[in-house]
Parts: sequence; structure tokens; C-alpha cells
Amino acid sequence: ATTPTLRLRDDHAIPQLGYGVFKVDPSVAAEATARALAAGYRHIDTAAAYRNEEGVGQAIRESGIPRDELFVTTKLWDDAHAHDDALAAAEASLQRLGLDHVDLYLTHWAVPAQGLYVEAWRALIELQRRGKVRSIGVSNHPLPQLEEIIEATGVVPAVHQIELHPYFQQRELRSAHARHGIVTEAWGPLGQGKGDLLANPVLQGIAQAHGASTAQVAIAWQLAIGNVVIPKSVTPARIVENLAAKDLALADEEIAAIDALDRPDGRGGMDPAQRPLP
Ligand code: NAD
Repeated sequence: ATTPTLRLRDDHAIPQLGYGVFKVDPSVAAEATARALAAGYRHIDTAAAYRNEEGVGQAIRESGIPRDELFVTTKLWDDAHAHDDALAAAEASLQRLGLDHVDLYLTHWAVPAQGLYVEAWRALIELQRRGKVRSIGVSNHPLPQLEEIIEATGVVPAVHQIELHPYFQQRELRSAHARHGIVTEAWGPLGQGKGDLLANPVLQGIAQAHGASTAQVAIAWQLAIGNVVIPKSVTPARIVENLAAKDLALADEEIAAIDALDRPDGRGGMDPAQRPLP
């Protein structure tokens, strides 16, 4: 079966399961991305800050897959929120990727202390108008900053990419997304390989019942609750395994059991409200 897609509020389609390349070393990014494309991923999530856009672009070109069958996301770094800097940063990303547009461009972090997230958002709106980016969204925006960019511009992000996994389910942001018609995209869906998420007994029980891995269960849960999810691996067998989670259908009571794993202290990454100045 092909990867399911979601319809964004701007009417573009996004493959619900993609391949993330955070911490994929630039020296292996082309090889890892090529493996992912060969395995069947059609959605790649990179960022200027990952320093591997060149490798991702190389793999895309060498794959021979028609551009319109691929969905490529990159992100604006914290030091380029000022309007002209943002426009230049987007051009530089396109150059490194070797693409004339990306499918999704995100402000990587709001950086509330810097106070330029509305200006950055206006630059993304301009980039979309110029056709450099098909869809625009944000990442790591606390709810007040998310509401503020919408209020200030009248333009609602198509996507909000946030840390989200069974131990940190982001209910408040997800209900705001539902109100606004924003698609939730989960980063760190496997707990980033830190902590014990993939050893959780509830996930293990469900995995066993399906002859699946706990990583696949964690990914299938994201698909079941309507999120886009972008697990990362450089291990060939896991690249394939993670994509195969699209074919794992969880029962309602299994989804409910995972819903109950949410923890008040479940955040594994940085709190976006506390993001320091670049
Ligand atoms: P992740 O939750 O996808 O975890 C990746 C790690 O999980 C791997 O390094 C490996 O240790 C382990 N793993 C992967 N597949 C496995 C499997 N099948 N079985 C067992 N272990 C497995 O963490 P991530 O990479 O941080 O997040 C996914 C993607 O989200 C990133 O690559 C990136 O594209 C994006 N991301 C965005 C932000 C942001 O600020 N917007 C932050 C982090 C990540």
C-alpha cells in the first residue's frame, strides 16, 4: 500500500509518514536519503541547521523520482528571522538542495526571547507568494506565539511540527490545531533514542500482538491519531521497518491504551518557550 496523505488547509497533500534527517551526518546524508527513497519514502524532512541539505538534494536528483512525487521540507534557522535574512536563507536552502521550490518551509523555532517570529512568519508568507515554497508552517511555537502569528497576519500555518510521542502528547496544542485546521507533525516520535519509550510494556504488548516492533507501534499510533510523523534512522533495516508501520492498523482499545501513556514530565527535548537567543 502507498503511504496515506493528508490534505493541508492550503489544499496541498502531505504524505503522512516521512523520513527525518536530524543528526544524519552530512557525509552519509546522501546515502541514507537514497536508502529511504529506495525503501519507498516520498517525504523528507531536513533543515538548514542539520547541514545535510546538499546530501538530501543529491539523493533526490540521483533517485530519478519525478519531483512532483516527492515532498521536501526544510526549515528557517533561528538566526535568520529578520525579513531579508529569511528570504536569503530560503534561497540558500534551495541552492543547497538543488531545488527550485520546497513543498513545506517551517520557522524552526519561535525563539520568543528574540521577538522576531511574526517577522519570520511574514517572510514565509512572502516566499509562498513568490512560489519558492508550496506550503508554509512553523515548528516549536508555544501556543501564545502560534496564536500571535495568526492574529498578526491572518494567515494560519498549514503545519505545526512539534515534539510528540506517547509520553508527551501535546493535547493543548493539538486542540488548538484542530480549531485552526493546522496539521500536527510529530518530531521525536520514537523518543529520539533517549529514554525508555521503546521498552514501554504497553507498547511491547501491542507490538507482540501484531508481530510488530515497538517503534512501529509508536509510528502507527501517530498515523491513527491523524498526525504526520517523520521517524529518523540511518540503519537500513530500521528505515524499512519504520515505513512499514503505515500498514499496521491499531484497534481502538490499543490506541486508547497508548493515549493513556501521556506524562506531565514527558518532554524529552527543549521547551520552545525557553529557546535561547541564537
Ligand atoms: P526519533 O524519535 O525519530 O528517533 C530517532 C532514533 O530512534 C534513531 O536515532 C535511533 O536511535 C532510534 N530508532 C529509529 N528507528 C528505530 C527502530 N525501528 N527501532 C529502534 N530504534 C529506532 O528522533 P528525531 O530524529 O529527533 O526525530 C525525527 C525527525 O524529526 C528528525 O530526524 C527531524 O527531521 C525532525 N526533528 C525536528 C525537530 C524540530 O525542532 N523541528 C527536532 C528534532 C527532530
